[in-house]
Amino acid sequence: MEILFRKISSNEIHFDTKFEEIRFLGIVKRESKDLVLCKGDLKGNVSHTCDRCGDDFELVIDEKIELFASDGSYEKENSLDIIEFYDGILDLNMIMHSELEALKSDYNYCKKCNTK
Ligand SMILES: [Zn+2]
Repeated sequence: MEILFRKISSNEIHFDTKFEEIRFLGIVKRESKDLVLCKGDLKGNVSHTCDRCGDDFELVIDEKIELFASDGSYEKENSLDIIEFYDGILDLNMIMHSELEALKSDYNYCKKCNTK
């Protein structure tokens, strides 16, 4: 799902997007001239390989997402979590994928290994 930056105002816009077994839903709204707040829940299952035993298992995702998106490059003043977009379009699927990749890059263990 894609939203044009110039269409995002201080009124919340609801989004609801899906990729395979993952659902990402929430709101976007303009926070300042250059920043858009994106807040939502990432939920579902994704197949993952256990980082201990190598077995495939379904990783359960249930994450609160809160980040900022900027229309063009943005000078970071502090530790804000900002994703920059360059074509005037806020791409929620891209945010979903980058959050998923971050979650998958953590150590995740299957049920068998988790109980040890
Ligand atoms: Zn395992």
